[in-house]
Amino acid sequence: MKEKLEQIRREALEAFDPASAATVQDLEALRVKYLGKKGELTNVLKMMGKLSAEERPVIGQMANEVREALTAALEERRKALAAAALDHRLAAEAVDVTIPGKQHHLGHRHPMYIALDELKDIFVGMGFTVLDGPEVELAEYNFDKLNAGEGHPSRDWSDTFYFDTDSRVMLRSQTSPMQVRAMETMELPIRIIAPGRVYRKDEVDATHSPMFHQVEGMVIDKGVTMADLKGTLNTVVEQLYGKGTKTRFRPHHFPFTEPSCEMDVQCHKCGGVGCATCKGEGWIEMLGAGMIHPKVLKMAGIDPEVYSGWAFGIGLERTAMRRFKIADLRLIFENDERFLEQF
Ligand SMILES: [Zn+2]
Repeated sequence: MKEKLEQIRREALEAFDPASAATVQDLEALRVKYLGKKGELTNVLKMMGKLSAEERPVIGQMANEVREALTAALEERRKALAAAALDHRLAAEAVDVTIPGKQHHLGHRHPMYIALDELKDIFVGMGFTVLDGPEVELAEYNFDKLNAGEGHPSRDWSDTFYFDTDSRVMLRSQTSPMQVRAMETMELPIRIIAPGRVYRKDEVDATHSPMFHQVEGMVIDKGVTMADLKGTLNTVVEQLYGKGTKTRFRPHHFPFTEPSCEMDVQCHKCGGVGCATCKGEGWIEMLGAGMIHPKVLKMAGIDPEVYSGWAFGIGLERTAMRRFKIADLRLIFENDERFLEQF
């Protein structure tokens, strides 16, 4: 048995050298082979019972020595392998700080958002708060509470994107639901603008898109009149297009305002004489507005005998198109860098 133990010690120590135990897996296989539960050393120890009483302690001590020697050698080899692996990883992950960096291509603001920021600046300067609202909206807010009841043509399936068969949940077709949400949640007096995406079933062409942007504006206070509406919007137009820019207000109809109007701006290109840009009119339609309908105020819990208000809605794409003299709406959404880089 002594010879057998000596043989195991010799063979195992040889096996643990770098050539045969090149990886952690090799080393583990060797550990199982020599020191495992069914390993060679254990097999020898199982035969101890057959030894005489004198031999047993001698062989037992020797077996322990062999086990300790093998365990120590194994541990040493394991540490060497771990150190080598770390060295290898450090070498592989080394960063050469002298290599020139990658050039990043920096973009800039989209022309439509430049126009929006200008509008926001003007209104915030006049004490308005900017609100954000849901694009998935209830028909109750998009229509009912804005005085566009059942049967109103804008509720038609051919105009509006509904999510359900009974036409209660929809993609908002205007930013006006934010008027109602503001009236229901904010303290009076209210001065807000609400920019955002809106959706209508329009075919894409040079002036239409099924998704576009509006900016809604609303003021509610005691004693607010049409004169405040005109004064505020004229100030906005002068800040956008320069002092002295003329506007005109034409009567119109919207369900949620009474009286309602559309505001035109004198053509910036021809100064009102008539040209291709204004289709010979001398004026360009800019926005819809009006005094908030007393019914709309009442539905939102505001007493129309005490409070009055005005509201407007402006198309953001058209504002940007006028501001930057862009002829085709599609250019705004196509993300063609050759176009966008110009602004
Ligand atoms: Zn013109």
